[in-house]
Amino acid sequence: GSWLGLLGGGQLGRMFCHAAQSLGYRVAVLDPAGDGPTAMVADRHVSADYADTQGLAELAGLCPAITTEFENVPAASLRALAARVRVSPGADAVAIVQDRNDEKAYVAGQGIPVAPNVPVRATADLESADAALFPGILKVARLGYDGKGQARVATREEALAAFAAFGSVPCVLEALMPLDYEVSVVLARGADGEAAVFPVARNVHRDGILAVTTVGAPMDAALTEQATQAALGIAHGLGYVGVLCVEFFVLRDGRLVVNEIAPRPHNSGHYSMDACQTSQFEQQARVLAGLPLGSTRLLAPAVMLNILGDVWFTPGSDTPREPDWAAVLAVPSAKLHLYGKHEARRGRKMGHVTCVAATLEQAQADALAVAAALGLPGTLD
Ligand code: ATP
Ligand code: MG
Ligand code: MG
Repeated sequence: GSWLGLLGGGQLGRMFCHAAQSLGYRVAVLDPAGDGPTAMVADRHVSADYADTQGLAELAGLCPAITTEFENVPAASLRALAARVRVSPGADAVAIVQDRNDEKAYVAGQGIPVAPNVPVRATADLESADAALFPGILKVARLGYDGKGQARVATREEALAAFAAFGSVPCVLEALMPLDYEVSVVLARGADGEAAVFPVARNVHRDGILAVTTVGAPMDAALTEQATQAALGIAHGLGYVGVLCVEFFVLRDGRLVVNEIAPRPHNSGHYSMDACQTSQFEQQARVLAGLPLGSTRLLAPAVMLNILGDVWFTPGSDTPREPDWAAVLAVPSAKLHLYGKHEARRGRKMGHVTCVAATLEQAQADALAVAAALGLPGTLD
């Protein structure tokens, strides 16, 4: 079989490997860590830093097409690879979404609303920031994920303290938005500009980390259309090739606002592995291989629960113990995906489970049974 290349060796890479291998490809993974979720799954491992010229050359020597699962691969590395092989997504698109300030400026420039915000590069930017941005959230402009590098700030003084605590690296100050709920749109776009959009997913975050994704619930048709068109507009405008996710806030007054863009398959699209005709990872492989996109049709309603390392720990104990997987799998509709991470830590994404059922009510009831088996909160909102 021919080779596809991947930058990054985390769980998204592991699920990409599975999908690409199912289509008959071999996958070579460049991963600085070397013993992550792709370690036993990739057909070839290149243990090198994302900026390592030799490692990149080794990957490009093997693979005619390369993608990424890690959103912070240096854009310069993508650019260098693109001189030799097909690379998607491209360096220019990735560079924009890697920086929250560039990302917000780009989205707003497309005429799509974002939360009121101001770039923060020095304390003077906070001293002069509009009072309407408080209470707000100060976020580091680069490298934040799962709510890391963020601080909720009630006042200007708290923002100044948080900025200092982040080491005065470039940040963005966003107004804290009155959220009704959150949704996301995952799509795949091919080199020919054709796009396939997955159903709009409704997401619940806990402590800044995705906890629950629900699809197949009745949703306002105008809002669904608006989110879909916004995501398509962003992808087309970026000339994006690959799988992309746009996260949205739905405000209490009904307005839709873009939160952020992920230039890769997304946690809120994991349900597609079990509930859609084609998964987001298969789409990523199809785009990379230059194959037609698959159908994104939802086969049945689904509820996905993230499994964080927290479920390895009972209250008051710091000794991890294996969760009761048999109890999870006793739920008939539960599809369990574990990422093969060696060490469970609180807040670390270890796996997910998706309940796919004939009705939304059944999927929700089953998800609550799974939650009970894992000691997760007994609600889906
Ligand atoms: P991800 O793992 O999705 O990349 P992240 O670290 O980039 O996470 P964000 O998506 O910026 O973090 O924020 C995480 C969550 O925090 C959001 O999904 C939302 O629940 C909440 N949040 C972030 N910004 C705001 C805001 N301006 N107003 C209200 N809530 C917010
Ligand atoms: Mg993010
Ligand atoms: Mg996010």
